[in-house]
Amino acid sequence: MRETTKKESKDLFKKIRQKKRKKRMPFTIMFELTYGCNFNCPHCYLGHQKNGKKRELNTEEIKKILDQLAELGVYRIGFTGGEPLTRPDIFEILSYANKKGFCFGLLSNGYLIDAKTADKLKKVNVDKLDITFNSMCEKTFSALSGVKNGYGRVFSAVNLLIRRQMQVSIKSTVTSINQNEIEKISAFARDKGIPYRIDGEVLPCKGGDSELVDELSVGHQAFLSLRQKIYPEMFKNKGTRKRRTRRRRNKVFNCGVGTTAFSINPYGEMNFCIEIDYPKINILKTGGVKAWNLLKEKVDQINDRAKVSGDFVCGNCKLLPYCGWCAGRSYLETGEFNRCSEFFKKRAIERKLARVKEKK
Ligand code: SF4
Ligand code: SF4
Repeated sequence: MRETTKKESKDLFKKIRQKKRKKRMPFTIMFELTYGCNFNCPHCYLGHQKNGKKRELNTEEIKKILDQLAELGVYRIGFTGGEPLTRPDIFEILSYANKKGFCFGLLSNGYLIDAKTADKLKKVNVDKLDITFNSMCEKTFSALSGVKNGYGRVFSAVNLLIRRQMQVSIKSTVTSINQNEIEKISAFARDKGIPYRIDGEVLPCKGGDSELVDELSVGHQAFLSLRQKIYPEMFKNKGTRKRRTRRRRNKVFNCGVGTTAFSINPYGEMNFCIEIDYPKINILKTGGVKAWNLLKEKVDQINDRAKVSGDFVCGNCKLLPYCGWCAGRSYLETGEFNRCSEFFKKRAIERKLARVKEKK
């Protein structure tokens, strides 16, 4: 029998997503399996939740939730954390997800992936591994992860996964500490033939602590010029101009939240996304279908309020076409959905000025 090509799988994925979107059924969700982590990154947004004392879901509870997700028709799960591989029962969970027929990926810092673990990941059919890779040298790696000898281990983890022909991608958060290494990481990814993504946002911690955000963030221009260097094909014939945001002025949530997406935290609470710990619906007590309906209602209430009252702060803002704002960022920064994010405002102003300059 002929094997399905990458393009065919992508097309199928798109088709299913479109169908689910129309019917407003969940498609891809994020499942935070633990807030525990073996790293101590200065840019981590988990704040006091990391390695917290609240009881997290046990194996059986997670399996029950996976049953509920199957009933809901969820297609793909991104297992994340904290560091999901710190859970001793991680392979029991992944095997169960595999048995239930989910497509699933794992977001990891890679530190715990040795040859044996890589074999096990292959065996349980993890379809994609997203490894955080913030530096190409031990010193910077250590500064951004809080562990010693991490660079060598994560470098080897990426190679072990590639050798097993697994789908691996690497990603970096661009900070003032590693901005000079991004091009080297990009060259490494290119050399290995794997996708590389950079993120220019240092998020405030859950609970509002944003002490290090300014110190670690790089400005819009610095980030843009890095993007131009590592994704030159995206900017061909376009100068520095990027597409304008397509956000609507009367809608707080322009993403998949409440249409095809939600997240579950390590306490079994269904939330809008991993950045928004709201509305905290206990999925085991409420049941998957009812929880999803409640979550959709909450999203609609927020969107409708913005539409009817016209008090949606971004909806009335002239900077909106230049602003990459999202409700999650606002929520982390201010504890509310409908408030201006200082971080994005700064970026939007920089972007607007750059466009004006370009036009001259
Ligand atoms: S690896 Fe991720 S979860 Fe762990 S400390 Fe770093 S950013 Fe936080
Ligand atoms: S600058 Fe502030 S108010 Fe304006 S769109 Fe961005 S986040 Fe919203």
